[in-house]
Amino acid sequence: MTITTLPAKPTTAIDPTRLLPAALRDDFPILQQTVHGDRPLVFLDNAASTQRPRQVIEVLRRVYERDYANVHRGIHTLSERSTEQYEDAREKAREFIGAQHAREIIFTSGTTASINLVARSWGDANVKAGDEILVTTMEHHSNLVPWQQLAERSGAVLKHVPITDDGLLILDTLDTLLTERTKIVAVASVSNVLGTINPVREIARRAHAAGAIVLVDAAQSVPHLPTNVQEFGADFLAFSGHKMLGPTGIGVLYGREELLDAMPPFLGGGSMINRVWDDRFTPAELPAKFEAGTPPIAPAIALGAAIDRLKLIGLDAVARHEHELVRYAYDRLREIEGLRILGPPPDHRAGLVSFTLPEPHAHDVAQLLDQQGIAVRAGHHCTWPLHDRLGITASTRASFYLYNTPAEVDLLVEVVAKIRDRFRPQGRKRRQ
Ligand code: PLP
Repeated sequence: MTITTLPAKPTTAIDPTRLLPAALRDDFPILQQTVHGDRPLVFLDNAASTQRPRQVIEVLRRVYERDYANVHRGIHTLSERSTEQYEDAREKAREFIGAQHAREIIFTSGTTASINLVARSWGDANVKAGDEILVTTMEHHSNLVPWQQLAERSGAVLKHVPITDDGLLILDTLDTLLTERTKIVAVASVSNVLGTINPVREIARRAHAAGAIVLVDAAQSVPHLPTNVQEFGADFLAFSGHKMLGPTGIGVLYGREELLDAMPPFLGGGSMINRVWDDRFTPAELPAKFEAGTPPIAPAIALGAAIDRLKLIGLDAVARHEHELVRYAYDRLREIEGLRILGPPPDHRAGLVSFTLPEPHAHDVAQLLDQQGIAVRAGHHCTWPLHDRLGITASTRASFYLYNTPAEVDLLVEVVAKIRDRFRPQGRKRRQ
């Protein structure tokens, strides 16, 4: 078994040519404020949810002020306008992730809803007692609990791909973990705690060779890295609008057409039917089959605007910018005595860094950072089993997006260093 401990590059200088223009930040009204008196807001909680630019807020306002009506139903001007924009957004989402057909794009309320849809609809129809479901130790509860529930309903066995101490998947274990009983492999493309970028394409290749299908939880990668479902070899892929400049309440499930076609509807109600009689119904075609009831119309249209914005900036440029920030943060945070960074070195991670200090507790670190205007996340980040594996109960996470700056990283490091100093055992204060 190969367990790689990778060396980190010992460099802390920022390369300004790899950063996005600072003026981008002006598009985000919420970032222009101070908190706790005169502290400029430093928003480093983007893995939980990002902020929205004016362009997205404007589209939401325009829809509600001018175009809004229910979609696919009314034969009137506003309904036609809303329907056209709603379907345009589907096309934008399709193109953004490289799907072949717009009917492979199902609008849901977010990643959690997308994964639950697959676990219920595909899972209940295809997974039987004794079958196996393969996840990894680093999954968010959203990509774990639905599979635990499916295992409980069906009598299937849930297995986990383990990780190294550095937070990398131990891929050699796939040799034994993938069997002819494996029905699905559900894996995050980027860990929301470790930042690890997982080799999804390789995992999909091996899963397919074993006869299993692959679901990619792309909540932390679609907003940050160029994504192509066909290159990934993903059979299903899920992501959320609110983590990529869009509104809450909207997300996407991509599914390969043959799979979606063969799946029974999950929720029943309006829109998802072709014909209804007293005692039965026939389902609608894709994608309506999986969009029962009134969908999140304005949020979907605004997600389209968020995608436009990201395309204009360029996902390659976003990834470069975040990589530069995370490398800088990683190198500088590592200099703080006793601070433990979770996950691999920067070359294997997306734009976030989680860490622990010997003292104080992660929640206190987050609270002390907040007093200086810095918003981070603390706790188990919906990855309880991962925290168990790492032998910790909580961590503090700083997560970056296209509007963050090196100066914000500097402030983060400076305040964390001061917190560390303040909570050092008596008599061991560091001299400045
Ligand atoms: N998967 C991962 C990796 C996540 O980071 C998150 C949210 O933090 C989710 C799933 C769930 O996303 P949502 O709450 O938008 O459904």
